Amino acid sequence: MVNTSKYDLVVIGGGPAGYAAAIRAGQLGKKVACVEMERPGGTCLNWGCIPSKALLKSAELYSKISHSEEFGISVSGLDYDFSKIIARSRSVADNMAKGIGFLFKKNKVDHFVGTAQVMVPGMVEVKDGSDKGTILSTEKTLIATGCKARTLPDLEVDGTRIMTSREALVMKKQPKSIVVVGAGAIGAEFAYFLNAFGTKVTLVEMMDQILPVEDSEVAKVVQRSFTQSGIDCRVSTKVEGITLASASTLIDPNAEVPATPDMVKLIGIDAGCPQGPSPQPARPQPDIKRLSYSYDSCACCCCRKNYSKVSCGRCFVSAEVNSCN
Ligand SMILES: Cc1cc2nc3c(=O)[nH]c(=O)nc-3n(C[C@H](O)[C@H](O)[C@H](O)COP(=O)(O)OP(=O)(O)OC[C@H]3O[C@@H](n4cnc5c(N)ncnc54)[C@H](O)[C@@H]3O)c2cc1C
Repeated sequence: MVNTSKYDLVVIGGGPAGYAAAIRAGQLGKKVACVEMERPGGTCLNWGCIPSKALLKSAELYSKISHSEEFGISVSGLDYDFSKIIARSRSVADNMAKGIGFLFKKNKVDHFVGTAQVMVPGMVEVKDGSDKGTILSTEKTLIATGCKARTLPDLEVDGTRIMTSREALVMKKQPKSIVVVGAGAIGAEFAYFLNAFGTKVTLVEMMDQILPVEDSEVAKVVQRSFTQSGIDCRVSTKVEGITLASASTLIDPNAEVPATPDMVKLIGIDAGCPQGPSPQPARPQPDIKRLSYSYDSCACCCCRKNYSKVSCGRCFVSAEVNSCN
């Protein structure tokens, strides 16, 4: 179906980069559309910042109440329901995502559902989803397709024993033990969350400090606090491979981490974390190769491999795809 409207701007991706741009363009009176293959809100609202902070809030509260005696407050029968904690986090994410849909309507952003592909500059096609087949004609295109979790080579994320942060945010069962590979912000958050509820957590980081992109003074304080609260922090430890045995998950013995954790989480190696061990293509891109001739005609392309620096005048990119390559 060819949409006969001509847009000033079509934004591909409804995450914080995409929705903010689309809403702002709408506020400035531009005719704007946003194509999103999942639901508006992107990683941040659906699978990142927001639901993870909701989990941290539960962990913080539980931990505070566990130590309430220190404040002269006695609480008996303290307990938790892991599935309700996860459900609350999902409901916070749901509400936030609904808010973006509302802002799209309020600011006259046309929302199309499906995977977008740039056919030629100025022409965007929705390849699947409920708006499959829609073709949008546009003056400018913003590619804001975001980030995707990385995994280790030859390792299948099965969502139960091997997870990325995405699966971890909807865990059905609390693991008794877990190895979190990568101690950046995301890995550290999940380590804190699970440890607060009694999971035996081993946090593995190949750099010489946890939170490798933070100041070492800050990282030291956090590591001390983590260790005191029972998290086993292994820095300067590189996980080179993980073998799935029938009954257990084995971590590369060279990495000297426990050999039989319940689960291994690859949380900390999401794209966007500069310490990721192996670059991996990001989520399906809107056929960036098709834009190559517009890159070629662009004098300002200082680095064609790094899409985040590309701006040809008609197509702009705001994506985390190569931020760690
Ligand atoms: C667990 C976790 C916790 C985090 N916590 C924080 C935090 O506390 N603070 C912080 O600043 N950052 C945090 N981040 C990082 C943050 O989520 C990202 O920086 C942010 O989401 C990037 O925004 P974006 O719009 O560039 O991409 P995204 O949010 O990834 O959005 C891209 C969107 O594009 C869509 N898309 C992709 N390809 C297509 C296509 N071809 N057609 C249509 N749609 C497409 C995707 O479905 C997605 O919705 C966290 C990340 C994770 C994983």
